[in-house]
Amino acid sequence: MLSGDVAIELWEQVRDKLRQEAGETVFENWLGLISLSSFSNGKIVIAVHSKFHKDWIEPRYGNRIRSLWHGLSKDVLSVTLVVDERLAGRSTKKSEDAASSILNLSSPLDLRYTFDKFVVGPSNNFVAAAAQRISESEDVAFNPVVIYGGVGLGKTHLMHAIAWKIRETNPSRRVVYLSAEKFMYQFVRALRQQDTMAFKEQFRSADVLMIDDVQFIAGKNSTQEEFFHTFNALVDQNKQIIVSSDRSPADLEGIEERLRSRLGWGIVGEIHQTTYELRLGILQSKVDDLKNCLVPKNVIEFLAHKITSNVRELEGALKRLVAHSQLIGRPVSLDSAHDVLHDLLRANNRKVTIEEIQKKVAEHFSIRLSDMSSPRRARAVARPRQIAMYLSKQLTSRSLPEIGRTFGGRDHTTVMHAVSRIETLMLEDSVIADDLELLKRNLEA
Ligand code: ADP
Ligand code: MG
Repeated sequence: MLSGDVAIELWEQVRDKLRQEAGETVFENWLGLISLSSFSNGKIVIAVHSKFHKDWIEPRYGNRIRSLWHGLSKDVLSVTLVVDERLAGRSTKKSEDAASSILNLSSPLDLRYTFDKFVVGPSNNFVAAAAQRISESEDVAFNPVVIYGGVGLGKTHLMHAIAWKIRETNPSRRVVYLSAEKFMYQFVRALRQQDTMAFKEQFRSADVLMIDDVQFIAGKNSTQEEFFHTFNALVDQNKQIIVSSDRSPADLEGIEERLRSRLGWGIVGEIHQTTYELRLGILQSKVDDLKNCLVPKNVIEFLAHKITSNVRELEGALKRLVAHSQLIGRPVSLDSAHDVLHDLLRANNRKVTIEEIQKKVAEHFSIRLSDMSSPRRARAVARPRQIAMYLSKQLTSRSLPEIGRTFGGRDHTTVMHAVSRIETLMLEDSVIADDLELLKRNLEA
């Protein structure tokens, strides 16, 4: 018996093979647009969105597709290509049914995640403004809207805020909000129940589709493909798509190029690391919401100063502090903050940034800071630059492309090369090894 997971897995292999054999162009325009529709008792059904499409594919690739399937599993009995116009996103008589079940797709929204609870500062004002704008206006001016940023910086909060606001300003707009993980889960379930048409139909009848944490579908090819089709169908109908991600579309490794580039078509906004003032503002607003608990100003400032990793941890720290004080019946103070939060404080101690690394390394080798990003290739600047890249990889959680960008827009392969070069040199050259040891100690101090 062919199980759902196996069928998806096989389908991915078939697609990969077709892509190799037919080449990128044919794949993008033709073969990449077919999708696995159902499988039962070894009968595989593959759907294309038009007769034209089918008439093109069948004589050229029909038998090849069949033989690939049969070659992969003896459980495959037949492979049929069918036309399903709903794949093209055209609305059909069924779309009303789909609309009625759309609420099942959408995840519940958190009551606390609204715009008025979202504190705006320099690190998020662009994204917040864009979010406000798209939720208040019905014309689809930017499509898709991509919100990206590190964990705990407010992506989900903003997504929910947008959904709430749209529901408030225009309740007839059908908003579907869910995580990419849930999207995949629903898709796999639809495949298993041989009900992908209903699945497609439901997603294509959304007016606003919001997918949280889209990075989750990296490397999950069938889900990506399905998302890509949904995406295109909705964009064609001028429906709004809003996506969040933990990194920029350009940095989404494991996501197909065509989807990655399409994610960059509309507006892409980053939520940056928080500033001290924003952390202060967020804490103040959370404290204002607390009933019968007083948090002194110096404690708020202390937390804003010390807990810099992200807003989720900041919030967690405040909650812990308040819970502790209520439990033992003593007011919140600087002392209790030190006591209760010592683990968090230690973890937040000294997060080195690439900028600090560049500065320290430039000083150490007496070169100009600007040489860190200049194109100059003279050994006297190139080597320190490589050392700074190496340290950035070691001491921060930034990705190779991000590091490359901070060093004058260099490619991630340049960073990779620098890292391995320095690793080798450290073994061969004790002067370099000592330099690095010293720099590291200074930076982490
Ligand atoms: P992400 O989805 O980016 O990982 P979340 O949206 O889940 O982050 O945010 C983590 C927590 O921090 C949530 O409780 C959220 O309400 C809070 N938060 C993040 N940014 C802000 C902000 N600018 N103002 C108020 N609360 C925020
Ligand atoms: Mg989130």
